[in-house]
Amino acid sequence: MTDRNVTAHAGPASAGATDLDLIVGVAGAGTMGAGIAQVAAWAGHRVIVYDIAPEFVRRGLDGVAKMLIRGAEKGRHPRDEADAAIERLVPSTDFSDFAPCGLVIEAAPERLDLKREMFAKLEAIVDADAVLATNTSTLSVAAIAAGLAHPRRVCGMHFFNPAPLMPLVEVIRGPATDPAVVATVARLARAWGKTPVEATDTAGFIVNRVARPFYGEGLRLLGEGVADVATIDRLVRDGGFPMGPFELMDLIGIDVNFAAASSVYEGFFHDPRFRPHPIQRAMVESGRLGRKTGRGYYDYADQA
Ligand code: NAD
Repeated sequence: MTDRNVTAHAGPASAGATDLDLIVGVAGAGTMGAGIAQVAAWAGHRVIVYDIAPEFVRRGLDGVAKMLIRGAEKGRHPRDEADAAIERLVPSTDFSDFAPCGLVIEAAPERLDLKREMFAKLEAIVDADAVLATNTSTLSVAAIAAGLAHPRRVCGMHFFNPAPLMPLVEVIRGPATDPAVVATVARLARAWGKTPVEATDTAGFIVNRVARPFYGEGLRLLGEGVADVATIDRLVRDGGFPMGPFELMDLIGIDVNFAAASSVYEGFFHDPRFRPHPIQRAMVESGRLGRKTGRGYYDYADQA
């Protein structure tokens, strides 16, 4: 990916003013992958959206289409622009479809072995100057890039949930990442209407590190029987936060949040400040993963 083709725009309104040749790949069409694909397609790029099974790709892309069409119905943007963005999303279950991509953003589950395997496969498919980015919340970019022939082109591009709405993107420079790659990805994020912040390659980067006590203390209050879920969330909201820790964990995915908590804990050599809570494991084991399963700390059965 060269600097020439990162200039995009914040939405179709300015289409035509810039070079949108860059084809973007998104590997993993879950909560984050679908949202990231929406951001890139809305900015005007053709986006290859891959998942391991057609039904997972379909679910992700259906969600994007629903969001964009609902936005048009509410008068946020013209319907034809929504339709054009939906058209730019190309479903895939074949990794080799990433071949023409100048940038591939990986948004698969938070497992180092899986991400390393994916990057090794990607490296063999894309052009030599393509950038490979990971949306990992907590894993080391260095570890993900280790063993690759060209680790210089690997960086973190960490979006927040929901990706189409949250402006922040952490751009993470691993020890081997070329600074020019970080600068290019940050420029692209800005062109997509985001606010990029450069972060170094430490466990949890900036946001997931400062967020740990937010969840951890809420879980400890709950575990000790000090207050129930709704009370803790309400008090935090009354304190000025847009969401309490439990509603936020339900939105993120309790499994995803638990994986992030465990990864930061490991990354800091079991520092007790970052210790996950047994309630998190119990929720994951019982399959209550939050909004995506219809039940987490709250019940969403009537919102399906
Ligand atoms: P998710 O469970 O919603 O989606 C993951 C998707 O990856 C699923 O659709 C799954 O089928 C797919 N997948 C599984 N194996 C794959 C493979 N080998 N190749 C490609 N796709 C595969 O998870 P998510 O919440 O979208 O999280 C994805 C990544 O983004 C994780 O690294 C997570 O830590 C990070 N993240 C999550 C959030 C959040 O709030 N959920 C926020 C920022 C970053």
